[in-house]
Amino acid sequence: MTDWSIDATAKRRDTYYAASQRKFVPFAEPMVFKRGSMQYLWDAEDRKYIDLLGMNVCISVGHSHPKVVAAAMEQAQTLTHCTTMFYHPTPAHLAEELAATMPAGPEWVVHFTNSGSEAVDLAMTMARTYTGNPDLLALRTAYHGPTAAAQSATGISGWRHPGMPGNVAFVAEPNQYRGIFGGNAGAEPYLDEIERTIASATTGQIAGMLIESVQGYGGIIEMPKGYMSGAAERVRAAGGLYIADEVQSGFGRTGDHMWGFEADGVIPDIVVMAKGIGNGFPLGAVVARKEVAAPMAEKFMFHTYGANPTSCAAGRAVLQVIRDDKVRENAQAVGGALLERLKGLKEKHGVIGDVRGRGLMLAIEMVKDRKTKEPDRETTSAVFEQCRTQGLILSKSGPYQSCLRMVPPMCLSMEDVDQVADGLDRAFSDL
Ligand code: PMP
Repeated sequence: MTDWSIDATAKRRDTYYAASQRKFVPFAEPMVFKRGSMQYLWDAEDRKYIDLLGMNVCISVGHSHPKVVAAAMEQAQTLTHCTTMFYHPTPAHLAEELAATMPAGPEWVVHFTNSGSEAVDLAMTMARTYTGNPDLLALRTAYHGPTAAAQSATGISGWRHPGMPGNVAFVAEPNQYRGIFGGNAGAEPYLDEIERTIASATTGQIAGMLIESVQGYGGIIEMPKGYMSGAAERVRAAGGLYIADEVQSGFGRTGDHMWGFEADGVIPDIVVMAKGIGNGFPLGAVVARKEVAAPMAEKFMFHTYGANPTSCAAGRAVLQVIRDDKVRENAQAVGGALLERLKGLKEKHGVIGDVRGRGLMLAIEMVKDRKTKEPDRETTSAVFEQCRTQGLILSKSGPYQSCLRMVPPMCLSMEDVDQVADGLDRAFSDL
């Protein structure tokens, strides 16, 4: 029998979880969720919440979405797992369907992994193998995952640990609110930074550059117009590949396109995806140009659960739901309405320095002073806790933990928007 009391679970966690897993608990008090349906969660006392965190962006089309659950259940009951040593149609279908979502032109191939960071690792290895160059570039406030290689490309200091491999040079993120070139500086000065970094901190010939099309943990940092395409040009001129990390921004979350990079017309060499692809079932993928993946034919990689049919059945259902239920279009309309309400809150509450994002990838950033833009971590924490009491689950992010990030299941409704904006308004007013 499962014991649902918070105290019992807390005691078991404190006793049996390693320190490395125990401490990442954002709320002051622990929470136990018992059930989820679409954009909502219920705790052990049956209190209802809007999940603006999307269980960390994993829930793309809705908690326990009936079509996704049915597809996974049917597969699990028939054959739960089958490694890629044997052929199975479900992952093969999903590979074809994912390739079809990529820009026209190149031939695309897919390597399924168990997680986003494994996909990042593989993308890094693929780029180094294809180009023969060791050095990679990444952005300073990037997050690419917890495995050693993905960490080595993760710029946010809190996520970096001893013993990471090297050969990654960091470039200033083109943050249009508090970047090194000030507010609304556009893409150009940051593109020059890429060139300067290649010239000063690499051998001059690089394997590639990883870019989240919209940075998630960085605090919802959008790439300004021309940045992704300009970065691809500069990286290719130095012999490298453009690697798009779509783990958070993919699957229609940005509202305007299926993939975040499409907003700038860039065609990447490698695309990394995870989280929303499985709507909670563990799955990641590298989608690469065929010629880029080809040199790994001899030095191949085997991910035990990669391409497992249960997660891939869920993945196929996710793609189907995104198409049938016009999920991207909903993210665009509802996200647009939420952004407008957030802008209204900025007019009213001086502690809000910036409101940004697109689709259902939004953030508000708190500052102690709008002129100096000094990050206000304490107020962010207070609003975050207050929102919990209003039935809103948010997430703190950004290098200073001064942003509230909103990445809900993409079935969020217009009625939810009112509840979210009113709840936030009350939380700011109660400060
Ligand atoms: N890239 C990005 C942008 C992410 O947000 C994450 C996870 N937060 C990862 C990679 C790593 O994915 P995973 O946790 O599935 O390994």
